[in-house]
Amino acid sequence: MNKITIAIDGHSSCGKSTMAKDLAKEIGYVYIDTGAMYRAVTLFCLQNGLIKDEVINTEELKKRMNDISITFQLNPATGRPDTYLNGICVENKIRTLEVSGKVSYVAALDFVREAMVDLQRLMGEAKGVIMDGRDIGTVVFPNAELKIFVTASDEIRAQRRYDELIAKGEKCNMEEILTNIRERDRIDSTRAVSPLRKAEDAIVLDNSHMTIPEQKEWLLAQFQRVTAG
Ligand code: C5P
Repeated sequence: MNKITIAIDGHSSCGKSTMAKDLAKEIGYVYIDTGAMYRAVTLFCLQNGLIKDEVINTEELKKRMNDISITFQLNPATGRPDTYLNGICVENKIRTLEVSGKVSYVAALDFVREAMVDLQRLMGEAKGVIMDGRDIGTVVFPNAELKIFVTASDEIRAQRRYDELIAKGEKCNMEEILTNIRERDRIDSTRAVSPLRKAEDAIVLDNSHMTIPEQKEWLLAQFQRVTAG
């Protein structure tokens, strides 16, 4: 059977990556977390003093884009890909609230998006790929055979993120997380370059009241529907 391209877009912290990773494992596709790529660029900025007092040194970042190498490597312990920045595993470092608080500003820069989109197209050119993000079905792979747009209520998304961070041992508070999620959605949806929006041919999934196994089953059914036809 010919492999297809699956694009999963949607709001922040609505479980896109969990669904995408689970499906990838089940059907033997490659999973690419594009949010992790923008997070890695943000971490690079923080580590190199390119963000100070909420201001990004865009001129310097533009000059240093070629110094940023982002790769993924399968972690045999989790069965999921970890993100590497210049050869160093940054999977935990990119998930902190500090990075979450800055990433949408970095992701709104046109030259950052151009570089990431080029890389994403290269990673997905062989098909058999599930990519999640904000602009996969609209910009990166507008011809993807299956497009999903995921959303859930703000409060439920914040609760899930809170549980995730607590489980990792990170100190956090619910209000801060809720504010961050709403703020990221606002910036992502209103930016000039590739704003977050549903592709016309995407199927909407509101997973507010679904369990992870229910979402997995739903997504697998969508995949089977598209590949059967
Ligand atoms: O998916 P995740 O929440 O990890 O993404 C982090 C941030 O990266 C988003 O809030 C958004 O600003 C940016 N992003 C993007 N385009 C993508 C994926 C993520 O702008 N394709």
